[in-house]
Amino acid sequence: MFRTFLNFLFPPRCPNCSAYVEHRGTFCAYCTSRLIGLHAIAFPRDARECLAGIWAFARYREGVRDLLRALKYQKKKSALPALHAILAVGEEALARLPRPLTAVPVPLAAERARTRGFNQADEIFAPWLRAHDIVLAALLVRTRETAPLYEHTREERRRELRGAFAVAAGADVRGRDILLVDDIMTTGTTLMECARVLKRAGARQVYAFVLASEHL
Ligand SMILES: [Zn+2]
Repeated sequence: MFRTFLNFLFPPRCPNCSAYVEHRGTFCAYCTSRLIGLHAIAFPRDARECLAGIWAFARYREGVRDLLRALKYQKKKSALPALHAILAVGEEALARLPRPLTAVPVPLAAERARTRGFNQADEIFAPWLRAHDIVLAALLVRTRETAPLYEHTREERRRELRGAFAVAAGADVRGRDILLVDDIMTTGTTLMECARVLKRAGARQVYAFVLASEHL
């Protein structure tokens, strides 16, 4: 009743192009076809012994980028329904992963976690994972701050991130299959470093899901 009234007053629109859509928080068919889709991301051969696969659910541009920026930099949780709707394209990839599976968010730098007050990877993935009976646990921590890495080469990024993550005190990942989750993938160096730390601590297989990739 309330929803019908709301939809009458404020008809749901595509968060990318503002076209009218049937369900609030969903992209229109045209924008979905251009921005959203399941992609296996290619990454360097030498990282494959640590990371079994990376899948991205959308392109990091236009409306997807705007929603993620609104969530992260303006703390707008109103961006979440549209981001949650994107996850539906990951069903197939999730179904193929081994169970039991433990999901682990890529940890934020301590300073950023304090000022933002939440980890966006948690906010984006938690309800979806819960619906699939997958535990989301902060089993990784940042051990030190890292410099912004935007303009670095892959080798420089790797060196800068080395030792920046550790398994959380008291966490035991031995023999567990882990799904790393993050909002954006740029070069993948962070995911690879997190996977390396998990494997060294005894994790069985490590996979990664990112909401959006800059390389699509
Ligand atoms: Zn649209």
